[in-house]
Amino acid sequence: MLQVGDNIGIVGGGQLGRMLAISAGKLGFKTVILDPQPNPPAFEFSDQHIIAAYDDADALKKLASLTKVITYEFENVPVEAFDTLSDNTPVHPNTKALATSQDRVTEKSFFNNLGIETAPWFDIILPQMLDRALKESGGKGILKTRRFGYDGKGQCRVDVSKPETVAEAKKLSQETPCILEGFIDFVREISIIAARSVDGTIETFDIAENVHRDGILHTSTVPANITEKTREQAISIAHKTLTELNYIGIMGIEFFVNPDGNLLVNEFAPRVHNSGHWTEAACTVSQFEQHIRAVVGIPIAKATRHSDCVMENLIGDDMDRVPEILSHSDTMLHLYGKAETRAGRKMGHFTKITPKTS
Ligand code: AMP
Repeated sequence: MLQVGDNIGIVGGGQLGRMLAISAGKLGFKTVILDPQPNPPAFEFSDQHIIAAYDDADALKKLASLTKVITYEFENVPVEAFDTLSDNTPVHPNTKALATSQDRVTEKSFFNNLGIETAPWFDIILPQMLDRALKESGGKGILKTRRFGYDGKGQCRVDVSKPETVAEAKKLSQETPCILEGFIDFVREISIIAARSVDGTIETFDIAENVHRDGILHTSTVPANITEKTREQAISIAHKTLTELNYIGIMGIEFFVNPDGNLLVNEFAPRVHNSGHWTEAACTVSQFEQHIRAVVGIPIAKATRHSDCVMENLIGDDMDRVPEILSHSDTMLHLYGKAETRAGRKMGHFTKITPKTS
């Protein structure tokens, strides 16, 4: 267990690292943040920082020498880089969780081996495997790169009745190993944010209903419009996943809800998650504080929600809406301090709260 005043290492200085650093500070811990950029959002709130590539072994060793525990905001850190550290300075969540999440084949196999359903998927090692996979998935699907995809990047929708989409998919599959996922006609998308502590205690936040635009999260609404059975299924999947991985920290798991209410796992993130940002406004503990509690080894809190809410991301020019958002007293604004506004860039979010209905 860390003591007040001890240093926590955070790999990645984006908005998630920033919000983790703020929460660490509120609990009395100090942070050392590693990021390749000279002035990323999180440095403003960190006590020390290291400017270096995520896979710079010497920089990671320096981070480990300065800190009692290392965590990360970004799951594409090379596992090998962390593996050399974990003997002396623990890395939470562990590298098994990190490796599982980094490759869509490993991730889907992990869930399927636990008896947890995902979209049907085909490993596309060679471009010529695409035609057969498309035939087997009814002529429609989504081709996704096995690694390094985020916010809808590294993927394309394929429909055999539109030859240009097949050509685009062939091109992507020539460039890098991919998977083809069958196209799911879901009724809604939901996610669960769950925490597991060093002693194995699990706490889950209430389930959010998510709407994406252009592959990027647009809104998260809580409570989600789902049945009790669906809710219990999501919680049970979260417990199974965290326990199986011997996980410490916060995890976000995203699901598709089928018309019959049954869940398919889309993916999981071994870190705090955009669809959990609402927790800072509508719960007694935020996902960021809960993550810090878990990784430093202090008890995690009851994840109690006191309000209904809708969280919306501010992307690119949405920044023009800030003055209007500030005029609402029921709305909590959180900006990430990014100097430059760019199309598609997450600049902040806001959460409107209303009295709790269920
Ligand atoms: P991902 O990056 O895999 O989370 O995908 C981004 C978004 O694309 C998801 O949140 C869904 O809205 C959509 N999507 C991804 N996979 C599928 C699928 N197999 N079927 C239908 N929609 C999907």
